[in-house]
Amino acid sequence: MKTELIFLGPPACGKGTQTAKLAKHLNLPHVDTGSLLRAEISAQTPAGQEAKTFIDKGQLVPVELVSRIIKNRLSQRDCKNGYILDGFPRSIEQAEQLELINKELNAGNEYRFLAVYFDIDEKILVERIINRRSCPQCGEIYNLLFKAPLHEGHCDKCGAKLTQRKDDTKEIAESRFETYEKETAPLVDYYKKQGVLKTINANGTIDEVWERLLKVIND
Ligand code: AMP
Repeated sequence: MKTELIFLGPPACGKGTQTAKLAKHLNLPHVDTGSLLRAEISAQTPAGQEAKTFIDKGQLVPVELVSRIIKNRLSQRDCKNGYILDGFPRSIEQAEQLELINKELNAGNEYRFLAVYFDIDEKILVERIINRRSCPQCGEIYNLLFKAPLHEGHCDKCGAKLTQRKDDTKEIAESRFETYEKETAPLVDYYKKQGVLKTINANGTIDEVWERLLKVIND
């Protein structure tokens, strides 16, 4: 059966690392709206130019824009058996858009839908954000606090020079947390009421959280 998994949690809760790993494990595409939007910005498309003004302030890009990008991505062939959705939906309005998209793309066929919430102590997250680095070439994510690269400043996997996301500064991170509380946190109740929510304790090492994640996915 087609498997559609979505993930909720505050910025830097570890979703990106775990969902990329899960996508490989389940052989499903990892669809990450933040990366899709950053790719539009790098390609200097009109959508990217519009998105940049919101991303630079730590705000959500408009629902029409992000829903269009998601619909295009989920319509591609590699999503026919399902997908791991990371960073979408991020508001009730986006959740409603996702339901419409699924209705259209699944054409009445049954599918498994699960929302996984990463429950974490938010006090540690700003520190995590400012220590985050990523590889612009292969997408590997590092953290100087607990997953530092072996050779300072360079990717262990492909050797490219690591970069810091422009919105991973203290100021913008704080604004991203406010946006999360206001727009995204209400989705936890929204999916709980629908009976499709699984919560995992996201405090812990990458391996500990991975074990907990596998347990709820295989339940
Ligand atoms: P992320 O890489 O998930 O931390 O996302 C980085 C930024 O991209 C966010 O702070 C938003 O500005 C934007 N973004 C990512 N996903 C969405 C979404 N589903 N809706 C609106 N904006 C988004």
